[in-house]
Amino acid sequence: MRSRWFDDEARSFVERYAAHGEDLALRVYTSRLIGAEPDLVLHGGGNTSVKSTFRDLLGEEVPAIFVKGSGWNLDTIAPEGLPGMDLAALRRLRRLPSLSDEEMVNQQRTHLFRADAPTPSVEALLHAFLPAKFVDHSHADAVLALTNRIGGEEVVRAVYGERVGIVPYVMPGFALSLAAAEAHDRTPGCSGLVLLKHGLFTWGETARESYERHVELVDLAERWLVGNRRRSFALGSPPSVAPADAAAVIAPLLRGRLAQESGDPDRPFRRMIVEWAGDEEVLAWVSSPDMEALARSNPLTPDHSIRTKPRPMIVANPDGLDTEPWTRAIEAVLEGYVRDYRAYFAAGVAARGERRALDPLPRVILVPGVGMFTAGASRAEARIAADIYRHTMRTKSRVHETGEYEGLPDLDLFDVEYWSLEQAKLGKVKEKVLARQVAMVTGAAGALGSAIAGKLLEAGCHVALLDRDEEALAATARRLAEKHGEAAVEAIVHDVTGEESTARAFAKVCRRFGGADVVVPNAGIARSGPLADLALADWRQVQEVNSTGVFLTLREAARLLRRQGTGGNVVVIASKNVFAPGAEFAAYSASKAAAAQLGKVAALELAADGIRVNSVNPDAIFGTAEQPSGLWREIGPDRARARGLEPADLADFYRRRSLLKVRLTGEHVGNAVVFFASNLTPTTGATLPVDAGLPEAFPR
Ligand code: ZN
Repeated sequence: MRSRWFDDEARSFVERYAAHGEDLALRVYTSRLIGAEPDLVLHGGGNTSVKSTFRDLLGEEVPAIFVKGSGWNLDTIAPEGLPGMDLAALRRLRRLPSLSDEEMVNQQRTHLFRADAPTPSVEALLHAFLPAKFVDHSHADAVLALTNRIGGEEVVRAVYGERVGIVPYVMPGFALSLAAAEAHDRTPGCSGLVLLKHGLFTWGETARESYERHVELVDLAERWLVGNRRRSFALGSPPSVAPADAAAVIAPLLRGRLAQESGDPDRPFRRMIVEWAGDEEVLAWVSSPDMEALARSNPLTPDHSIRTKPRPMIVANPDGLDTEPWTRAIEAVLEGYVRDYRAYFAAGVAARGERRALDPLPRVILVPGVGMFTAGASRAEARIAADIYRHTMRTKSRVHETGEYEGLPDLDLFDVEYWSLEQAKLGKVKEKVLARQVAMVTGAAGALGSAIAGKLLEAGCHVALLDRDEEALAATARRLAEKHGEAAVEAIVHDVTGEESTARAFAKVCRRFGGADVVVPNAGIARSGPLADLALADWRQVQEVNSTGVFLTLREAARLLRRQGTGGNVVVIASKNVFAPGAEFAAYSASKAAAAQLGKVAALELAADGIRVNSVNPDAIFGTAEQPSGLWREIGPDRARARGLEPADLADFYRRRSLLKVRLTGEHVGNAVVFFASNLTPTTGATLPVDAGLPEAFPR
């Protein structure tokens, strides 16, 4: 590891944050340098501080400490992410023999200079008790690779000599802050602390000194690990079927079995999002004969168990792509996994007292020859688990190459996973109505499809956007990802008329999200013109997209939803034309009637599996300036002519002919889709018009 410090960059931070003073500006700069190294910190991990002064309202300079606040990541931190506290008041606390976590947080909050500041890190007192001006803390992989082994303390001593104090493992909080301060006092001249099975602290009188000491100590650890290799991680045999194909088969089976019964008859499942990773590094690791023993050992640091659970689940590979053997393989280990987790919880409760049990399901699932699946309440969570586990793989391998891995005992993991401050937060956040669900929307790059996708995302759903127009799709995906987060959205180029293309799109959704719960066949085209002049090719093309396309989507959806076994919703976007066809609009009207009929047949066939199929009949949707309707751009002039109107007057014509005199938007249709997908009423085979009231189109 090398220093990323550059004088000109440092100067630009001092200029940018001049209003906050040089200390805080440089604190932000080197915090970001640390945050930029995933080998040092991941997802909110690590923290930094600076001791400086705070000018109060009377103009007096008060000694202050600024520590990273919770909810901030080091790689993107700003001065507001480093709340300031009264340093003298915090230091006085060192005289106390003990302090509960709740009172510690209370002391931190009541000594803030700003009432609206984020709560400082739980390691804030540790920073306060160390005398140096700048303090940096990470959970560096290389340092954990030194400490997480039999004889770890001796290795740390051999690598660093007296340059660091050593702190035996204690859970973060007041006791650790005291232990760290004592280790500092015991080791004269030290410029850092190694916290066994936790991480590294360094300090200095300047931001650069503290940061560069950090990098140097990590670099020494990395060099030691390279120089002391005595064996390599064994390679497994190459997989017999393509890992991506196997992953598409396994993911929905896994996702279905990871869904918990909720007890709510209207929404019977609490699902998880599951994402697959099968790149070379992951495949090599999961397929290695050395994997199992290392995977069963405890995590690198206890806080990882919050994201990954104490252990991953390992599914034996039965070979092939048949669902039966895979189902058996998953069920065989899942039951044992849940039983083990409950035993771990019971042992923790016996030792520490009552706690509210968290779900016993794995977050990391390893399958030799296939890769790693990670699970979470959202794909963002699943991805955090994946990032942490990748570092776990690398670090455990490095230990294995140079010694024998050793994690912390279960009870230390339990203390962090069931930490009182975390327990207090349970049940306080209400999930959105479609949280933990995945929707697929065809024709998603269009005005209507993108509006439906937007509404589903707003309702907490993850959405796979399917469209054949690659460019428009990418633009829509970017726009929605900006608003709802990268992890909630996936763009898949797809032609609804292709059998293969449809299977491929569904397989991709399975690899990326674990499966789907809401399927919205929405893609549609139109050709306008009198029946007598309608070309056969035009007729066929419209049937291909609007009718065959819906059939192929429904067929694949039925297969996927059944494989998951957790019900689901299909919402067919039909048309007002189903009940009120339009003259010179034969191909479109007939194809939409076919789509609506397909939906009703699907409702009959799939109800036994808890799958509801409903339709929405919108009248013309013209889109917005941001996302105009491609369909209406194409057929608008003809439809206007058929009614003796100017194209520009068409939207107003549609508005005026309705009972409610309302201009329809794609969002209105999206609301109807969300209504059905939310299972608010036990309804299937139904049609909901979104047409502002058209008597001739009333469902009948
Ligand atoms: Zn830490």
